[in-house]
Amino acid sequence: MATATAPAPVKSDVKIEYTQCLIDGKWVDAASGKTFETINPATGDTLAQVAEGDAADVDKAVAAARKAFDGGPWAKMTATQRGNLMYKLADLIEKNKEKLAALETLDNGKPIRDSLNADLPLTVACYRYYARWADKIHGKTIPVNGPFFCYTKHEPIGVCGQIIPWNFPLLMQAWKWGPALATGNTVVLKPAEQTPLTALYVGQLALEAGFPPGVINIVPGMGPTAGGAIAKHMDVDKVAFTGSTEVGKLIMEAASKSNLKRVSLELGGKSPNIVFADADADAAIQGAYFALFFNQGQCCCAGSRLFVEEKIHGEFVEKLKGIAKSRRVGDPFDMKTHQGPQVSREQFDKVMGYIDIGNKQGAKMVAGGSRVGDRGFFIEPTVFDGVRDDMTIAQEEIFGPVLCVMPFKDVDEVIGRANRSVYGLAAAVWTKDIQKAMAISNGVRAGTVWVNCYDVFDAAAPFGGFKQSGIGRELGEYALEHYSEVKTVTMKL
Ligand code: NAP
Ligand code: MG
Repeated sequence: MATATAPAPVKSDVKIEYTQCLIDGKWVDAASGKTFETINPATGDTLAQVAEGDAADVDKAVAAARKAFDGGPWAKMTATQRGNLMYKLADLIEKNKEKLAALETLDNGKPIRDSLNADLPLTVACYRYYARWADKIHGKTIPVNGPFFCYTKHEPIGVCGQIIPWNFPLLMQAWKWGPALATGNTVVLKPAEQTPLTALYVGQLALEAGFPPGVINIVPGMGPTAGGAIAKHMDVDKVAFTGSTEVGKLIMEAASKSNLKRVSLELGGKSPNIVFADADADAAIQGAYFALFFNQGQCCCAGSRLFVEEKIHGEFVEKLKGIAKSRRVGDPFDMKTHQGPQVSREQFDKVMGYIDIGNKQGAKMVAGGSRVGDRGFFIEPTVFDGVRDDMTIAQEEIFGPVLCVMPFKDVDEVIGRANRSVYGLAAAVWTKDIQKAMAISNGVRAGTVWVNCYDVFDAAAPFGGFKQSGIGRELGEYALEHYSEVKTVTMKL
């Protein structure tokens, strides 16, 4: 058993101030007057009632975003002024980092030390990175034939609908708003129903920073209603979505059936993490553990298929088991906690269901497998050994603290097996042999490959998926392409 501290009542007394829709620079109730509960996953208690926006609210938010895009202060601002506003927002987030970290932990359940040391700094860095891009986005002059002067301009797309998940609420908002605002678009964001609180707080900070009304709009609500309304809206020019592959397909379908809005998708994964016998053993073991269990296993790029070279497999699994059993699972507000609850009852049930399937299909559970405590949605860090490639737990995204270990013999074999997945989001290799590192990084079909590290994120480095893990790239210069249109201007001389 993992060291289980009984999930104590959350000690944080952070105040929840913003629970309405943010439309056209004002906080407003949903047109229907409806609200929904957001839950504290550490206790199962209701934290707050939040406005439940739907199509009517999305219509208003899109109209406000359109007005702000078409004229007014945002449209007239210089690129540098836009960047300065984004910088101000980053500064305000940094100034309020403790409060935002507490709200994130309260609503999502992630350990406060992760909120403080990972989510908040990455979020601030992302806004600053894109603030610096604002006045560096430009086209080319092109030597066309004839007496013509030809150049390109990179213009904003227009009104961007953005639908984000619950696993990294603040960070996903930053990944979406950063490139959208730097390029001069206006946005309508729908946060996940499980975690609306930090998105709304950042909305208030955006108002304080001085973003003109309508540039930033937030409509909390349910996926099929609020999210669906964004995806099929005739006046939304682009939709960016992060979440499940299943819903990603619906978003694309809605875009194609409405106005062919631009679509970027960041979806699921079943990422292979490959450890060779020559790797630095300690780094590989710690790295393999972190790759899966960080954020309660709720990462799209989680290293959920751990391939370990046969020669070291037995010893490696023993060590993983040791770490799993020593982790503190419990109160996310305790600075010593390593693992908090799953985000919701639904996710808890889904993960427990996969543990059951793993056992039934004959995988060997060597650690964990049970609920922790009787309150909240805590699950022991769970390790399955002897997992075969065709087992459900080796194929489907579990999105929880369940690691599947599979032995392998050689480079070609492991590349073939790593690629036998509908997903292609991330991969990693642990080795001291440059030949093996190159073979894996070239051979594995994935948007990101980490060598002797895992989950290294930087706002400058693009991230996104091959195959059914998505379309397009977020972060870095590459993300700007998904928020701009290229205009070619040709002048007769
Ligand atoms: P999801 O349904 O894909 O949710 C992601 C976002 O899409 C949420 O804001 C959601 O709203 C919204 N949404 C849901 N249905 C929609 C629709 N028909 N039209 C437009 N928007 C819609 O994911 P989930 O249900 O939270 O989690 C299910 C699984 O998805 C997880 O177990 C995991 O495998 C995967 N997932 C992946 C990521 C990732 O980072 N790639 C993140 C989260 C989950 P609601 O908040 O109302 O659901
Ligand atoms: Mg919640």
